[in-house]
Amino acid sequence: MNSPDYQPKVDMRYGRVIGAEALIRWQHPEQGLLGPNEFLPLIENTLLDCRVGDWVIQTAMAHLESWMAAGLLLTISVNISATQLQQPDFVAQLDRQLRAHPTVPPHLLELEVLESAALQDIDAVSELIKSCRRLGVNFALDDFGAGYSSLTYLKRLPVATIKIDQSFVRDMLHDPEDLAIVEGIIGLAKSFQRQVIAEGVETAEHGVQLLRLGCNLAQGYGIARPMPAEALFDWVARYCHPPLWTHTATSKSKCGRRPKHRQLPG
Ligand code: C2E
Ligand code: CA
Ligand code: CA
Repeated sequence: MNSPDYQPKVDMRYGRVIGAEALIRWQHPEQGLLGPNEFLPLIENTLLDCRVGDWVIQTAMAHLESWMAAGLLLTISVNISATQLQQPDFVAQLDRQLRAHPTVPPHLLELEVLESAALQDIDAVSELIKSCRRLGVNFALDDFGAGYSSLTYLKRLPVATIKIDQSFVRDMLHDPEDLAIVEGIIGLAKSFQRQVIAEGVETAEHGVQLLRLGCNLAQGYGIARPMPAEALFDWVARYCHPPLWTHTATSKSKCGRRPKHRQLPG
């Protein structure tokens, strides 16, 4: 297994890099570099799935430690599979990992769980999230909107962040229904006092629209593709975000008004 790649997350208002998501890849001896969707399904529901998951947390913590030593302070997000989440010793194992990296403040680690995985046993997952929060580690609900998003679920899951599923974000500029979903999720996050981040931000225009809707955090190919850990430090140092984003954020905070909604068809 290769070291994970990292995809930056930014605050579009200030052009500040706030964190990075660890995304695993596998250099297959014959097939070349494989993305997670090509090999993770093969180990789903097996012990190997959990071992890989532990290894990603351990590797990400080590990277975080080396970035901190070089003066770069970022949060790091790690994806957790449903199988790993259901391990009875998940919290104890996480605690061990944190203790192995005492210089890393636990709040710099964020765990991303798929909305679908969190809902498999909502009471158990809710308790688990609370236990992890006591260790200082926060959760994000990934691919939000793509599953069975409901107000009740959101109320019961103490996640700090909601990640808007990229399928809605990508198409929101030309699909009024996706735009309405994105706007709805942002409103939901605000009402429940959760942080909201959009993934799948492929162009500056996507960012402008999100800023207008009140979503300031973003991740996507329009900002950066996932990159090797060694490349992240230089990327952060050189990052220039679109001036259009600062302009949108400034003019929005000056007038304090929301944009007009698009007209729905029919
Ligand atoms: P995800 O957690 O939703 O991660 C985002 C995926 O979207 C990544 O694909 C990323 O490269 C891609 N992406 C990011 N921005 C854009 C964009 O603007 N446009 C488009 N078209 N795609 C974008 P990747 O790396 O292939 O990962 C796929 C999925 O595999 C992830 O989806 C995640 O669910 C899973 N995964 C990745 N690493 C891990 C891991 O360490 N553990 C577990 N359990 N799952 C992982
Ligand atoms: Ca994710
Ligand atoms: Ca996602």
